[in-house]
Amino acid sequence: VVLPERQLIERIRRRAAPGTNRALARAIGDDCAVLNIPSGRQTLVTTDLCVEDVHFRRAWHPPRSVGHRCLTRGLSDIAAMGGEPVACFLSLGLPENLAQRWVDEFIDGLLRLAGSFRIPLAGGDIAGAPKITADIVVIGQIPAGRALLRSGARAGDRIYVTGTLGGSADRLRRLYAGEKLRAGAADRHFFPNARIETGRRLREEQIASAAIDLSDGLSVDLAHLCEESGVDAIVNAGALPVARGAGPEMALHGGEDYELLFTVRNGVRVPARIAGVPVSMIGEIVKASKGLKNKAGSRIRLCDHRGRLLPLKPAGWEHFSKI
Ligand SMILES: [Mg+2]
Repeated sequence: VVLPERQLIERIRRRAAPGTNRALARAIGDDCAVLNIPSGRQTLVTTDLCVEDVHFRRAWHPPRSVGHRCLTRGLSDIAAMGGEPVACFLSLGLPENLAQRWVDEFIDGLLRLAGSFRIPLAGGDIAGAPKITADIVVIGQIPAGRALLRSGARAGDRIYVTGTLGGSADRLRRLYAGEKLRAGAADRHFFPNARIETGRRLREEQIASAAIDLSDGLSVDLAHLCEESGVDAIVNAGALPVARGAGPEMALHGGEDYELLFTVRNGVRVPARIAGVPVSMIGEIVKASKGLKNKAGSRIRLCDHRGRLLPLKPAGWEHFSKI
């Protein structure tokens, strides 16, 4: 069973060494963490909730993977804004009968990833709960006024994504089908990468006009970007970088790939790889068409291999996980 709260906090505190991050003036041990914000910078804050049997299953996901995935969700939001992560905060709800070893390995997975981005776990809270619940807050920073927003896309922009799509959904499909999968360190479902360095380059080199991270699935997340920008989009089905093992449906609607989707003004050069990550042009932004939106309930059209334009309804993760 889990250690009493005080002991557990002490145990986590000993492992959550503040490290080399100069932004952290005071970490665990006071009533608040104290962060230094350099002048001319803005603070990014994102929060994500992971709930057992909703976002992960104990039988499918080893605790190290759950900790890693939990922090990746927050880091990926920072990446989508072109920001740099500064610190994370973790609140845990833990069932009484949970083994301490599960908690240790969960914290290990989270801290290992935090360490690779040189960010400290700077605070949090622990309480009893009927299911494992992990709420992660990631703080980031960015030069003032320079954040990549969802609202920057204009008609004529081209649409790009990083990496491959549908890989995580394919793993999930196989888990649902009863397959036992080994949670290898390079497996993008169990240990996804947040594209922090790619996001930073998109901002610094002024490549992207708008950006969002792909957490819920391309059809859902691109619809969010279109909504915020007041535009429509055409996705070229043949151009989707479909992950090995996945099909086009998974690339369109599968969630949790944590790749970046970004738009680029016509004429701006986009390298084939950004910070080592391949990028693919998958379509273009077009003027909002009120009629289409009302008729099909969608801002996105899919151009199939015969050149036909079909409405693409945002389906995404929730829908997919029930197939
Ligand atoms: Mg996001």
